[in-house]
Amino acid sequence: MTETPHLTFDLEAPGVSTGHLVVPKGADCWALSLPVFNLNKGEGPRLLITGGCHGNELEGPIVARRLIEWLPEAQTCGRVIILPVLNPPAVQAWSRNTPIDGLNLNRVFPGRADGSVTERIADAVSRLLLPMADTVFDLHSGGPSWDLPPATTTHPIDDADLMAKTVKMAEAFKLPLTLVWEHSDTPGMFDTFAQGQGKVFICAEFGGGMVGSEALAIYEAGVRNGLVALGLVQGETDYPTFRRKKSSQTLETLASDKLKSPARGIFEPRCSVLDEVKQGDLIGILHQIESLSARSIDLRAPTTSIVCAIRSGLHVEGDEEVALLGRPLKR
Ligand SMILES: [Zn+2]
Repeated sequence: MTETPHLTFDLEAPGVSTGHLVVPKGADCWALSLPVFNLNKGEGPRLLITGGCHGNELEGPIVARRLIEWLPEAQTCGRVIILPVLNPPAVQAWSRNTPIDGLNLNRVFPGRADGSVTERIADAVSRLLLPMADTVFDLHSGGPSWDLPPATTTHPIDDADLMAKTVKMAEAFKLPLTLVWEHSDTPGMFDTFAQGQGKVFICAEFGGGMVGSEALAIYEAGVRNGLVALGLVQGETDYPTFRRKKSSQTLETLASDKLKSPARGIFEPRCSVLDEVKQGDLIGILHQIESLSARSIDLRAPTTSIVCAIRSGLHVEGDEEVALLGRPLKR
């Protein structure tokens, strides 16, 4: 008999309960047991918090573990399920994609029971945990290759009501940036799948480079503000301090706002996230490494805008995204 994905414990038990989400074995690897924390305080909002979708974004799993420490004292009603690590093989390998099948977990939802390991993880989460929640906080970060300010993000949603609810929830984190991020066609994302079921899905982002204590404190404060806004935790919301400022703004970035590399080479960032740039201002420089006589290429802002995210200094291919520019969200 083929094993089906299952939970090793009863999510309906009152109070704190913990166990595992079992992702069955397949041709490519053994069964995985993903630790799950569940805090059931009866009636109220139902929230699922996930981290570690991408294995080189470890802020999410760390903040998820911190929440597990203090939520039992703080949560006053409702249900919070926390899955700190969605993709253990990717986290162990410090790799964005799953090393076993090379797939990006955030591109295979709702997954397949008979698929490869990444698809089986998505299938187990889609079938057993997502139906238990009305709201999802999926904790990502910029990883080693992008610099992002502390941010909550969503993609544009066709359903205007759900879009308004989602932006309001994202803004409740009070992080320096709430970003409505238009992607070109990217099927299989966790948020798109959850939003298709009418759920409010917030993707938290923070980057990049190495995981630092200051970044973690801001991230945790943002998630706590989100819990307060949902009514799961009582207390004051607080604007986290970023670059000695307490402020937040809501921007949108369109698919056409991606600044792309004109050639392959080392990208040198020349501005920082949340900088305001005017048309023609220098965003970064591309250094081609094959030849010393090849001139470095300036990348300039096409219009007045705000830098939402910028690539860390690293080698990029031609036509690869190196910056996301944005402007205040039109409502
Ligand atoms: Zn990610």
